[in-house]
Amino acid sequence: MKTEISGVTIELRQGDIAQQADCEAVVNAANAKLETGGGVAGAIHRAAGPGLADEARPLGPLKPGEAVITGAHLLPNNYVIHCLGPVYGKDKPAGPLLASCYSRALDLAEQEKVTSIAFPAISTGIFGYPVEEAGMIAFTTILEEIPRLKYVTRIVYVLYSTEDLEMHKHMFAQLL
Ligand code: ADP
Repeated sequence: MKTEISGVTIELRQGDIAQQADCEAVVNAANAKLETGGGVAGAIHRAAGPGLADEARPLGPLKPGEAVITGAHLLPNNYVIHCLGPVYGKDKPAGPLLASCYSRALDLAEQEKVTSIAFPAISTGIFGYPVEEAGMIAFTTILEEIPRLKYVTRIVYVLYSTEDLEMHKHMFAQLL
């Protein structure tokens, strides 16, 4: 599913965040120490190789809502933007912290003149954020940020399961 808003294409697709070769930057649902882990962080670090953690670790620890940028090492991208989402029920206020991940990731992409970026559904796995609620925050934040983007012209939102993709397509259509 692809939609163009003010010159920025937003695409929702099912896939693996570590295999988004057509995006210049990929976003990692990182842990505070910027090390490998489960879910998205595991997939990204496995594909990127140990050089990614070596570069990222000194930039941490991250606080919820923060983001940092590194090279992509063995991934087929130029950059990895590492965001620490809130742990649902623990890091508060969860909504603004999650929104901050998306806006700060876009800030870093703009700073490096990145034209295309792929996001996973931050915080909706191990961190327990309800998928639909998190999706609404992600989409509203991305839509709010679009008017100030100068370089980013393509935003891809990658869902791991087809069920999550279908749910997000419906939610996104409601926001337009
Ligand atoms: P968090 O710790 O921020 O909750 P997770 O990595 O546990 O992050 O999960 C975030 C979301 O990413 C979940 O919806 C999960 O299903 C999905 N996910 C897990 N692995 C991948 C992957 N390789 N590519 C894209 N999405 C993934």
